[in-house]
Amino acid sequence: MTETIALVTGANKGIGYETVKQLTALGMTTFLAARDVERGTVAAKELDAEFVQLDVTDPDSAKAAAAVVEDRYGRLDVLVNNAGIAGVADQQPSTADVNVIRTVFDTNFFGVINVTNAMLPLLSRSSAPRIVNVSSGIGSLAGMSSLHAALPPSLAYVPSKTAVNSLTVQYAKELRPQGILVNAADPGYCATDLNGHSGFRTTAQGAAVSVYLATLGADGPTGGFFTDDGAVVPW
Ligand code: NAP
Repeated sequence: MTETIALVTGANKGIGYETVKQLTALGMTTFLAARDVERGTVAAKELDAEFVQLDVTDPDSAKAAAAVVEDRYGRLDVLVNNAGIAGVADQQPSTADVNVIRTVFDTNFFGVINVTNAMLPLLSRSSAPRIVNVSSGIGSLAGMSSLHAALPPSLAYVPSKTAVNSLTVQYAKELRPQGILVNAADPGYCATDLNGHSGFRTTAQGAAVSVYLATLGADGPTGGFFTDDGAVVPW
């Protein structure tokens, strides 16, 4: 059996780190991508993964990372767009600083495009290419009006994840004929640096949905939004 080559962005800590751990445990050769060389190298060594430097906000960095993967393996089978930032705590619409919103979108939305487009030529050489975009349940428009109504308004993080959901469907439409399955993941509320460790789920639980979507069979869904038990999250 040929080996599966995977790459996870923003993987030096949190859910991304745990995703690398779980993909590697499944026998995949996994690139742990991180913007910080030192922290990324240490994390990759801990997990017996390969380190590649990648700042998702920089298209040249994404292309350089793709060149490293191409040099070593010539293709990519699994891309997990995991890197994300929350932005400042106060994201009240009426007092919003658009520069904060731009920064969050740069990472959470434009970063996914930078990395996906850099990796697509490599993914197109895979026999089972999968793209996982790590979104959030709080990006669900349906959820906003019911489930998460109690959450304070957030003009940067929440819309950035709604946009990731929309982006996921657009890529899925274009890439379906090539057999590239593209789905959005809802990890649930996990204890990480992103939320000051206030989440009630573990990173292992959060990573499980990315692993589930990274290992879909050929008849698996595309253009959907899921939790780790395969349940559909309403858009
Ligand atoms: P985390 O522990 O803060 O990890 C975020 C990771 O993203 C870090 O490795 C960080 O690197 C990296 N990152 C940020 N900006 C980057 C950039 N420009 N280029 C490359 N990497 C960058 O947060 P997390 O909770 O694990 O978040 C992972 C993903 O899950 C995010 O997309 C987040 O929105 C999503 N999510 C999290 C939760 C939750 O409850 N935790 C819920 C739903 C969705 P540095 O160490 O260099 O900053």
